[in-house]
Amino acid sequence: MSNTISILGSTGSIGRQTLDVAEQMGLSVAAITAHGSVARMEEQARQFRPRLAVLTDETAAKDLAVRLADTETRVLGGFDALEEAAVIPQADTVVTAVVGMVGLKPTLAAIGEKKRIALANKETLVCAGELVMDAADRCGAEIIPVDSEHSAIFQCVQGCLDRREIKRLILTCSGGPFYGMSYGENGKMTKADALRHPNWKMGPKITVDCATLMNKGLEVIEAMRLYRLPLSQVDVVIHRQSIVHSLVEYRDGAVLAQLGTPDMRLPIRYAMTYPNRGMSLAEPLDLLTCPPLTFAAPDREAFPCLRLAEEAAGEGGTACAVLNAANEEAVKLFLQDRIGFHDIPSLVAKARAGVPVVQNPTLEDILAADRAARETVLR
Ligand code: NDP
Ligand code: MG
Repeated sequence: MSNTISILGSTGSIGRQTLDVAEQMGLSVAAITAHGSVARMEEQARQFRPRLAVLTDETAAKDLAVRLADTETRVLGGFDALEEAAVIPQADTVVTAVVGMVGLKPTLAAIGEKKRIALANKETLVCAGELVMDAADRCGAEIIPVDSEHSAIFQCVQGCLDRREIKRLILTCSGGPFYGMSYGENGKMTKADALRHPNWKMGPKITVDCATLMNKGLEVIEAMRLYRLPLSQVDVVIHRQSIVHSLVEYRDGAVLAQLGTPDMRLPIRYAMTYPNRGMSLAEPLDLLTCPPLTFAAPDREAFPCLRLAEEAAGEGGTACAVLNAANEEAVKLFLQDRIGFHDIPSLVAKARAGVPVVQNPTLEDILAADRAARETVLR
C-alpha cells in the first residue's frame, strides 16, 4: 500500500491520471518530473506541493524555478535529476510514467532504494528487463505493472504459488486504428490517422505503437520479463472492445481473465493499493450493455512490427534493446512527418540487421546497443 509517491512523467497521460488517483486516495506526492511542460508542471506543483519538481530540459527548468520561487518546491533540471526524484526518501512508491528508455536508470536507482515500482514505462523492461527484474529480486523491491494487460495478468496470477502451473499468458490487443487493413492499405495512413485510437486516449508515442502493433510486440517482451516466461508461452489475440484486459491459461485448462471498462485509473490505482483494492474512478462494467466480446488472430503480414518484436524476443540478449531504440527513433521521425508508416518497420529491421546482438548483456552493453540502433536509424 502506497502513502507517498514520486511520479516520473507527471505531465503525461499516465502521469496525470496518477495524480487523479493520488488526489482521490489522499496520497502525498513527494516528487514530479517532466521534460519541458513548464505550465503544466507549475500547475501540478501548486496543487500537490511536492518537495521536488524536475524538468529534464534545463532551460525549461530555469523558467519553472522562477515561477515556483514563492513555493517550498525545489526545482532541478537535467537528466541526472530524474534519479533524484526516483530515490527521494519520502516516497515509498515510484510511478514510472516517462516515455522511452530514458526511464531505465531512474528505475534502477529506485529499485536500489527498495521503492515499490508502479511500472508504466514498458520500454525499460523491453531493453533491460532481465537486469531490472534481477535487481528487484536482489533488493527486495516490488514491481507492480500498470500497463493494463500486465496488470490484468498480475491480478490473474495472485494466488499462483508455482509459476510452472502457468501454461501461457494471452495478451489482448485492440488491433489499433488500422485493424482489418492489408499491408498495402495501412501504408497510406498518415500521422493524423495513426493518432486516432479507437479505445484509449494516450501519449503520441504509444498511440503510434498501437497503430503499428509494435506496442503489442513490446508488451510480449514486457510480459516475458515480468513473469520470466519464454516467447512460446506468451500469445496475442485481437480483442477490439478492450474489455478483457488479458488472460492466463493454467495447465489444468482453467483460463482466468480480468475484465473492466478501458480506464487506466483502475490499474494505476491497483498498483498503489495492492494487495488491497479500493474504490476506482473508472466506470463500472455492465455486462448486459457492453458490446459482444470478440477475439481474432493478429495479422503479422499487415503489421510486421509485431513479428519483428517477437523475433527480437526470441533472439534475446541486446536484440530487444536494439528493437526498442530503433522504434523510438523511427516513431519520432514519423511524428515529425519525416517518414511514412511503412518506414517504421523498415528502419527497425535495418537496425536489427545492422547492430550485432550481445548475449547476457551488461548495462553498458545495453546502452551501447541502444546508441548504435539510434545511429543506424538516423544515418
Ligand atoms: P506521454 O507522452 O503522455 O507522457 C510522457 C511523460 O514523460 C511526460 O510527462 C513527458 O514530459 C515525459 N517525457 C517525455 N520525454 C521525456 C524525456 N526524454 N525525458 C524525461 N521525461 C520525458 O506518455 P504516456 O503517459 O502515454 O506513456 C508513458 C509510459 O507509459 C510509456 O512508456 C507508455 O508506453 C506507457 N503506457 C501508457 C499508457 C497510456 O494509457 N497512456 C498505457 C500503458 C502504458 P513533457 O510533458 O514535458 O513532454
Ligand atoms: Mg497496454
